[in-house]
Amino acid sequence: MKRIGLYIHIPFCLKKCAYCDFYSIPGRDEALQNRYINALTLHMKTLSATMEDRAFDTVYIGGGTPGLLSAEMLTALMNGIRENFTLAEDAEITLETNPAVADEAKFRVMRSLGINRLSMGMQSSEQAVLKTLGRLHTFDQFAETFGEARRAGFKNLSADVMYALPGQTVDGLLETLHSLIALSPEHISMYGLKVEENTPFGRMGERLALPDEDTQCEMYARACELLEESDYHRYEISNFAKARYESRHNLRYWQREEYLGMGPASHSFVDGVRYSYPHSIEDYITALEQGRLPDVDSHVTLTPAEAKNEEIMLGLRLAKGIVATDELQKKCENYLRYGFMERKDERIAFTTKGFLVSNTILAELME
Ligand code: SF4
Repeated sequence: MKRIGLYIHIPFCLKKCAYCDFYSIPGRDEALQNRYINALTLHMKTLSATMEDRAFDTVYIGGGTPGLLSAEMLTALMNGIRENFTLAEDAEITLETNPAVADEAKFRVMRSLGINRLSMGMQSSEQAVLKTLGRLHTFDQFAETFGEARRAGFKNLSADVMYALPGQTVDGLLETLHSLIALSPEHISMYGLKVEENTPFGRMGERLALPDEDTQCEMYARACELLEESDYHRYEISNFAKARYESRHNLRYWQREEYLGMGPASHSFVDGVRYSYPHSIEDYITALEQGRLPDVDSHVTLTPAEAKNEEIMLGLRLAKGIVATDELQKKCENYLRYGFMERKDERIAFTTKGFLVSNTILAELME
């Protein structure tokens, strides 16, 4: 059987964070949430036959804040997956959650449903920074929720932190990482803030007091050092893990392996075709309730040249880099000479200095 990943988008959050442009609806509309879970189940039924020859060895329930869903909704969702798709026995099943939306009892339900990995939003340990971000929790609440997940039996926990934030200093970021490392998660994601236009941060423009570029570079480099010293190896530009705890699902994206996305704003890569669903929960639910398949936004079959470019763009995000063909070696000569890239046996990979300007270098490589 072929192996594939499943991504399910849960577009609900208690409140929108000031920097976030992911597709999600704020509030607690349980009627809408129930209709959505039913729609997802209908969608799984319609896709079941076409997925018959595949085993799902990773499942990622992301959002949004899937941890917001009630125990009954999570049960219906996991039952829908098991009834319509083949799950590999050793499947990695991840669910994203935030502090204070799930407690130990709900975590126990998640474990009993086979969910074996949680990804939790922490972002910072500094209260002032959390407030600026519009997060609804304190660091203490994060630590408490983290402990509840452990007590419920989760042995694979990941936490997200952010850097290059307004009001954040290098020391502040390092303090955040020290506080997180003390909790000993198996995996840490560390993303730099990207100010998106259609968010409150985007509308603040120059009034947003961001650290300058040099400080942002120092933040990334010092954070990488601290994480490596603490046994979290960087396996992707923004992702660090203890040995054998890399996110198997996310590796799929960077290694161009197949995944099926479900829900508005989700993306899929199946049989060499990339497609996505529009950002509208209403259209998605209505189509399925009326017995139709939801419309897709874009549907692209990559040419061999596009596939090759993608392989370079995505593969170079990984710390192990990609196999160095003669052509690539030639294109990268200067980056290798000036320490932006390095040879790792037969592969070429970014160094920390290279990761800091990877977007610029990738754009040059694609020309
Ligand atoms: S909780 Fe996550 S998905 Fe929801 S608004 Fe905040 S950052 Fe975005």
